[in-house]
Amino acid sequence: MAILLMLTIHWYSSLFFQSVFHHRYAAHGVYSMSPFWEKMFFIGSFLTQGTSYISASAYGIMHRLHHAHTDTEHDPHSPSNSSNIFTLMWQTRNNYRDIYTKKADIPEKYMQNLPVWEKFDRIAHGWQAKAIWAILYILLYVQLATHWWMYLLLPVTLTMGALQGVAVNWWAHKFGYENYKMKNTSKNILPLDILFWGEAYHNNHHKHPNRPDNAHRWYEWDMGYKALVVLEKLRIVKIKRAVVKPIALQ
Ligand SMILES: [Zn+2]
Ligand SMILES: [Zn+2]
Repeated sequence: MAILLMLTIHWYSSLFFQSVFHHRYAAHGVYSMSPFWEKMFFIGSFLTQGTSYISASAYGIMHRLHHAHTDTEHDPHSPSNSSNIFTLMWQTRNNYRDIYTKKADIPEKYMQNLPVWEKFDRIAHGWQAKAIWAILYILLYVQLATHWWMYLLLPVTLTMGALQGVAVNWWAHKFGYENYKMKNTSKNILPLDILFWGEAYHNNHHKHPNRPDNAHRWYEWDMGYKALVVLEKLRIVKIKRAVVKPIALQ
């Protein structure tokens, strides 16, 4: 039971940063914040993603390429180019690594206005940090596991950030409903998204990538956007209202 509670907290805290910081801020810039808070978000990502820490700038570049080349051979992660979820995960990992290590040749236009903290990324991405996190996770499992099978969940803990990324990238281009007819395979995974911080509304998001609120129907509810509204009330972020304007549904 304690393991499941730990996994639940890990899922929501890690995905909060991937959705609100990596996706909405680094890739799309739907809100602004001070350099101090930007650094706090880097640290928050490290504390919640641990072994599966994701560089916000590398993520931002990769995700912009996904929007620019959705479902084509240049898409860094498309189920159209992968036969199953594991090959998609591997393809995403390789493309991410090439961007992070600057091996990939990226056009300048995708590299503008990114949150960059290279020194921190190097430490958080280093094998030493990953080894410390892995030991901490194993110690936690030893403390909390009450049955042997619970250790089978350890790989989920170790790869949490990557799993969350591939979950959205696979399912949201495979299964779900469409509010908009698009020239790509994007889908909304769940009508009521209580699992993905609003990332389930992927068809809505492909239609309006720079809109902070991914919920476009009365029954849709974007938890990540609600969190941003709270952060704005606390004067931590400033949502770019120009792109929040209601738009006509098609
Ligand atoms: Zn997509
Ligand atoms: Zn996006």
